[in-house]
Amino acid sequence: MIIAIASGKGGTGKTTLAVNLSAFLAEKRKVILADLDVEEPNSGIFLKGRQVHSEKICRMIPEWIERTCIMCGKCQELCRFNAVLKIPDRIMLFPELCHSCFACSELCPTSSLPMHGETGGILYHSIISKKLQLVDSHLEIGQVSAVPLISATISYLKGIAASDDLLIFDSPPGTSCPMLEVTKSAEHVILVTEPTPFGFHDLKLAIKTMEKLDKSFSIVLNQAGDEFDSTIIEFCHSANYRIIACIPYMRRAAELYSAGRLLYQEIPVIREALSVIANNLQLA
Ligand code: SF4
Ligand code: SF4
Repeated sequence: MIIAIASGKGGTGKTTLAVNLSAFLAEKRKVILADLDVEEPNSGIFLKGRQVHSEKICRMIPEWIERTCIMCGKCQELCRFNAVLKIPDRIMLFPELCHSCFACSELCPTSSLPMHGETGGILYHSIISKKLQLVDSHLEIGQVSAVPLISATISYLKGIAASDDLLIFDSPPGTSCPMLEVTKSAEHVILVTEPTPFGFHDLKLAIKTMEKLDKSFSIVLNQAGDEFDSTIIEFCHSANYRIIACIPYMRRAAELYSAGRLLYQEIPVIREALSVIANNLQLA
């Protein structure tokens, strides 16, 4: 089973929930946490273990062969990401926009756009405890597109996961391609939000995205205890969106987070909230 933890807005506590929920559940069952927030993978700060594997992940991008190109312009028409531009005397490629879909390369009538690999990032696989593993991928500096690295990491996870493993995906924030790449393979998505106008605005965007994907989702209200709580709670109730837990704001949580420690081991309220989430989603 795959659960993704996502948020419209960064800084809502998505990674905190992912690492704490994973470690909490791994007290009883086998869990693999995948940190797919590849631009800023922080899970390793909280979960330290023994590294068992690392590998460079290549992303495939096209290369233009001028000698054989007949300047038909088909590649520009095909590319949905504007990564190919035909100008009067040449084809220009913008690798930072390329999503490695292979369309231009496969459909070029003269095979003038062969794909080649360049390093997109590095994947690390660590054993944290008897029942908990961490896979975190780090985007190479200078790489703009996170999607190929996320997609390669998910393929790696599918290769190592046993049938009784619970996979928890820590998604990048936002509602753009990297978030879609992570959530599309999940059976259920937990959207983490916070009681602020920005949090509320971005929660609504994340909900719309889940509805478009026809995904099962639920909501965790983090850092609760503000007068803005009621705005989010009323909105969710009126639209029948399920809030599965409210985690209160606590200064102690911020202190433990800053020290790279797991919150649920030292704050009983957070352990209770994780237990409620686990029961609500039948994860325990
Ligand atoms: S599709 Fe191939 S042949 Fe046509 S312009 Fe592009 S690279 Fe050249
Ligand atoms: S591989 Fe796909 S995304 Fe990349 S340039 Fe070709 S058509 Fe565009």
